Amino acid sequence: MFRTLIFFFIILISAQERLIGQENSIYIKAGLLYDSKENKLLKNKLVHIQDTKIISIGEFESLPKNSKAIDLTEYTVLPGLIDAHTHVLFSQDANEDFSEHSIQSLTMESDALRVLRGSKRAKSYLDQGITSIKDLGNSGLYLDVALRNAINEGTIEGPRIFASGPILAATGGQIYGVLPEHQNIIDSEYRIISSPEDAKNAVREHVNQNVDLIKICADNLPNKTFLTIDEIKAVVETAHSYNLKVTAHCVTNQSAWNAIEAGVDGIEHGFNLADSTITKMAEKRIYMVPTENSRDYMNTYVKLAGFEDTEWIDNYLNIMKDRLNKAIDKGVPVVAGSDNYTDIKVSRGESSSDMFRYYFEAGMKPLDILQSSTYISAFHLNKEDEIGYLQPQANADIIAVKGDIINDFISTIENVEFIMKDGKIYDQTTD
Ligand SMILES: [Zn+2]
Repeated sequence: MFRTLIFFFIILISAQERLIGQENSIYIKAGLLYDSKENKLLKNKLVHIQDTKIISIGEFESLPKNSKAIDLTEYTVLPGLIDAHTHVLFSQDANEDFSEHSIQSLTMESDALRVLRGSKRAKSYLDQGITSIKDLGNSGLYLDVALRNAINEGTIEGPRIFASGPILAATGGQIYGVLPEHQNIIDSEYRIISSPEDAKNAVREHVNQNVDLIKICADNLPNKTFLTIDEIKAVVETAHSYNLKVTAHCVTNQSAWNAIEAGVDGIEHGFNLADSTITKMAEKRIYMVPTENSRDYMNTYVKLAGFEDTEWIDNYLNIMKDRLNKAIDKGVPVVAGSDNYTDIKVSRGESSSDMFRYYFEAGMKPLDILQSSTYISAFHLNKEDEIGYLQPQANADIIAVKGDIINDFISTIENVEFIMKDGKIYDQTTD
């Protein structure tokens, strides 16, 4: 009798476990599914999600009997998109000076207010299907890390954040025109490096505060200071010893060359790269994050900034387009990033998704743009097993767009109708 009871009990428990398992299971029928590793679209795939992870990707027929699936047969299903260059804790108006606004923010905006504002900006990325962001500084003393933690623990909703902490930079950082007696203000926004030894300490401080990657300013224009090759080398060697990637803000060609010599993993902006620098990046598989904007965005920006002269826009965009295409032709890995921190009177997420339009205008093919915003981006962060690629054991960060992604890219990528992050459906306006 006792044995029978135990037996009955075990059956009951396992049945309950099965039930719980099923309750936490979600199936998605994808009419088209983007394979970001192979860079191609697959037809009619069934995605099985359990809790926060993807369990399997199979055929429609593998849907268990009596199970219901979310019907996305009319949609293209993609990994959640990644913006690899954001500043969610910083915002300025188009007509404001960056340096003056930075000082104002550091002296008149409390950390509490700054994080609350930043959390609203962060959340707006989810609406665009951008489920992960690399937030690269201008975020006070580790406010990006705090925001990341609040999102990860579920206190607030937002994208997965990879936080850099304060940018490592040479004297003055990027804040120009500050008197010597007030340079200490800059220490609450940048980690100023004074030597290779100090550079090692700076990385260790960042490791101690649990950053996800290291961002440096290889040059500080319009401040004239820059990090030396030895300082950058010390940063890279220390960061790599902790398995952290190093990405470098570079405006000048010289600073990009220095950063590459020192072994950084990626170059942000790279506005003025010489052909030889681009070749070296391709050889060393150093990625580039081109952070330009579309023509529409630029027109809005100059209007808000009150610039009279708009003729430079075409010239600027053409030079940038040439440099991007040269990099692609030579085989430099391109990682998508917006760097949008100016208030152009739409949400930050919406403003940042302008990067898709820009890359398209610059001649990139739709699937290549998607790969730069998913697999390639995740790969260069060592996170391709977790994000940016729909595969078993990856985080269930899944979005769906309606439209023809190949032939009508812009309106389709801007038409995100299904958003899931960590297995949780964030917004579903399908039907
Ligand atoms: Zn930036």
